[in-house]
Amino acid sequence: MTFESIGLHPFILKALTEAGYTQPTPVQEQALPAAIAGRDLLVSSQTGSGKTAAFMLPALHKLASAPADASAGKTPNQQAQAARAKGDRPRFQPAQPKILVLTPTRELALQVTTATEKYGSQIRGVKAVSILGGMPYPKQMQLLSRNPEILVATPGRLIDHMESGKIDFSKLEVLVLDEADRMLDMGFVDDIELIISKTPASRQTMLFSATLDGMVGNMARRITKDPMMIQIASSASRHENIQQRVHFVDDLSHKNRLLDHLLRDVTIDQAVVFTATKRDADTIADRLNIAGFAAAALHGDMHQGARNRTLNSLRSGHVRVLVATDVAARGIDVPAITHVFNYDLPKFPEDYVHRIGRTGRAGRNGIAVSLVNHAEGVHVKRIERFTKQVIPVDVVEGYEPKKTASASRPRPGWRPGDGRKPAAKPGQRTFSKPGAPRKDGAAPSAGGAGGGYRGNRDDGRSAGRSSGRG
Ligand code: ADP
Ligand code: MG
Repeated sequence: MTFESIGLHPFILKALTEAGYTQPTPVQEQALPAAIAGRDLLVSSQTGSGKTAAFMLPALHKLASAPADASAGKTPNQQAQAARAKGDRPRFQPAQPKILVLTPTRELALQVTTATEKYGSQIRGVKAVSILGGMPYPKQMQLLSRNPEILVATPGRLIDHMESGKIDFSKLEVLVLDEADRMLDMGFVDDIELIISKTPASRQTMLFSATLDGMVGNMARRITKDPMMIQIASSASRHENIQQRVHFVDDLSHKNRLLDHLLRDVTIDQAVVFTATKRDADTIADRLNIAGFAAAALHGDMHQGARNRTLNSLRSGHVRVLVATDVAARGIDVPAITHVFNYDLPKFPEDYVHRIGRTGRAGRNGIAVSLVNHAEGVHVKRIERFTKQVIPVDVVEGYEPKKTASASRPRPGWRPGDGRKPAAKPGQRTFSKPGAPRKDGAAPSAGGAGGGYRGNRDDGRSAGRSSGRG
C-alpha cells in the first residue's frame, strides 16, 4: 500500500515526500483509509509506530479537501469586521477549531503540533496551535485569536479557555484522544467528558491508547459511533527492535557505580535515565555532570521554557544523557536515543513499555537496561507478564551483585538477609510505598476496587502483600 493509493490529498503527499516517508506504517495502513472514509477509530499500537500521522493525515486531508468556506482563514477580528460591515452588532468571536487533539502532556502536545506543521506544510493557511498549561495566558489568547483550524491541547488548560468563552466547539469535525489511557491515569476523565459534551455529536472521533481494556474501553464506547478497532501489536510483540535486560544491584552505591559504568559504553549515542522522582532526576543529573557526562534533568517541576530548552539541547545533541521522570519524558521522539536506563522501575508495566519506547525510534534498534534491587524482582515479573516477554538478567564483570538473582525471589514479607530495609535508604526510591496516594487518587472513578480500570492494574500497592492483585 502507498500513500497515493490511499487517496490522500496531493498537498499531503508532497509533505510526506519531503518528510522522507516512503510508505505507510502498519497502523497507518489500517487507520488512514477508514479515517478518510469518516469512520471513528479505536487504535492501540506500540509507541513509535506512527500514530500521529494515522490521525493527523486524515484530519488534514479533510481540511485540504473541504470546499472553500467564506470565513476560512479570517481571524475572529476580521470576521467581526465583516459582521459589522453587514450591520450586525460587533462582538467578541471565539475560536472555532475544526480539529481538536487532546494529549496528556505538554511535551506530547508540542510534538503533535510540530508533526502537524510538517504534514500540513503544503496546505495553505492551515494553522495548528497548542494550548498548554504553563504557557503564558496572553500568548495563548493571541494564538486563539488567529482562529486556528487545529487545536492540540492538554485538557485542563483547554477547559479554562472554554469556560472563559474563548473557544467554541460547535464547528468541530474531528476529535482525537492521543494516549487516552494516560490521560485517564492522570485523572483527566471528567475534563475529557466535559470537553466532549461541548462538541457536536456529528464529529468523527479517533482514540489512541496503549490498551483498550477497562476504563479506556468504557469511555471509548461512550464517545465513538460504530468504531473500527485497530490493534496492531499485542503486548507480546512490542519492541522487538529493543534489546532489554535487567541488572540486579545490591544497594544504591552499587546502582550508581553500575550506571556510571554502563553510560561509558561507546555505543551509546544518547540515553535517557528514568527516575521515580523529580528530586532524583535533579540529583542524578547533577552527579552525572560532575562525573563528566553531558547530562540534564527533565521533570514536571521545571518551567515550560526550561523544559523546552532541555529538549532542544537533547535534540541538538548537546545533552547526551537525559535524566527524566515518566510524565516529563512522555512522547520524547529523538531518533539518536540508543539507550534507556531504568534507574528506578516504573510504577506500572505500561510505563515500562512507554519508557523503553523512547529508544528504537523510527525503525532503529535500541537497548533498554533496568537496574533492579533484589527486592524488586516481583516488579520485573509483572513487567514480564504484561509484555509477555522474559527480560534476560545480565551481569557486568566487576559489577556483579553479591546476591544471585534466584536467591532474591521475593516472597510476601521478605526482607533482605542483611536486615537492610530498602525503604529506609536515603535517596532511594523503592518501588512501592504501601498506602501512598496515587497522583490520580482523587479521581472519582478511582474508588471502585476491582471494577474499574485502575482496579485491574498492577499498581504496586499490593507489593509485599500476599494477594498480589487488587
Ligand atoms: P507513535 O505516536 O505511534 O509513538 P509517532 O507518530 O510519534 O509514533 O512516530 C514515530 C516516528 O516515526 C516519528 O519520528 C515519525 O516522524 C516517524 N514516522 C511516522 N510515520 C512514518 C512513515 N510512514 N515513514 C517513516 N517514518 C514515519
Ligand atoms: Mg504518539
